[in-house]
Amino acid sequence: MEVFKEIFPLREHLKTIRAAHKTIGFVPTMGALHEGHMALVKNSLEENDFTICSVYVNPTQFNNASDLKNYPRELEKDLQLLKNKGCDAVFAPSDNIIYPEKTAITIDFGSLANRLEGAFRPGHFNGVATIVSKLFHIVEPDQAYFGQKDLQQFLIIKQLVEDLSFQIKLRCVEIVREDDGLARSSRNKRLSEKERDKAVVLHQALLKARDLLLTGKSVGDCKSEVSQLFSEPSVKLEYFEVVDANSLKVITNISEPKNVAICVAAFVGEVRLIDNIIFSKEL
Ligand code: AMP
Repeated sequence: MEVFKEIFPLREHLKTIRAAHKTIGFVPTMGALHEGHMALVKNSLEENDFTICSVYVNPTQFNNASDLKNYPRELEKDLQLLKNKGCDAVFAPSDNIIYPEKTAITIDFGSLANRLEGAFRPGHFNGVATIVSKLFHIVEPDQAYFGQKDLQQFLIIKQLVEDLSFQIKLRCVEIVREDDGLARSSRNKRLSEKERDKAVVLHQALLKARDLLLTGKSVGDCKSEVSQLFSEPSVKLEYFEVVDANSLKVITNISEPKNVAICVAAFVGEVRLIDNIIFSKEL
């Protein structure tokens, strides 16, 4: 497995891959890799001749300095995991390689970026779109892999690819969970043992809400019932919304969209976690 820290040698290497008519699958990550990331890598390995993963904690998508500072960084361990999985190459640049200068442009996705995460993390999706655009231009993959865990991020990147005519096929991989249902996340490492036990409430709330909605409860009643699950003082709910899974617009009736998503964000102690579930009325 080749590890690249700089752009030019990586581009040269990828040229030789393309010249050999091999397809390139790309998995962008911020490292502290877990089974969720590995599912993306597995999909890429199965569907492409060559898989490259990036490991880069992108500062421009953090709107909270302490979250950026405390984000887990464990490159050596990540490289070992990727090597064992059979990944072909890794791009692990430093900040001065990616942002030699502060970027001047901003990318505005309109209402899609203002809902849910966007409402609580101003500037986050501009940072995501900036880094993903840069990485797409550097790697020029055939296919790129993202997780449903960050549903809004996936939809933003889909919009980016459509609007800016990137010739890249996007793949969305379903959420990998712990045995008790907690969505795998690099941030889970920051939870204390007690907080880790409490964190399962996010997934429990999603399941409960889905079941209530499917048995005919109104969205309003369902939300007020589920909010009672978040009474624990160490768990602070930021949002719990029932939305159209494609537009992320809040809905009041689950018959409206083809697919419904329930999205949640909550602080467990100091750690901000997100999760979601997608279903259709026919389920
Ligand atoms: P991150 O390193 O958190 O930026 O995540 C990198 C990619 O892995 C993103 O596309 C995430 O949506 C995806 N991902 C993170 N956690 C999971 C998970 N539990 N299951 C599936 N994909 C995930």
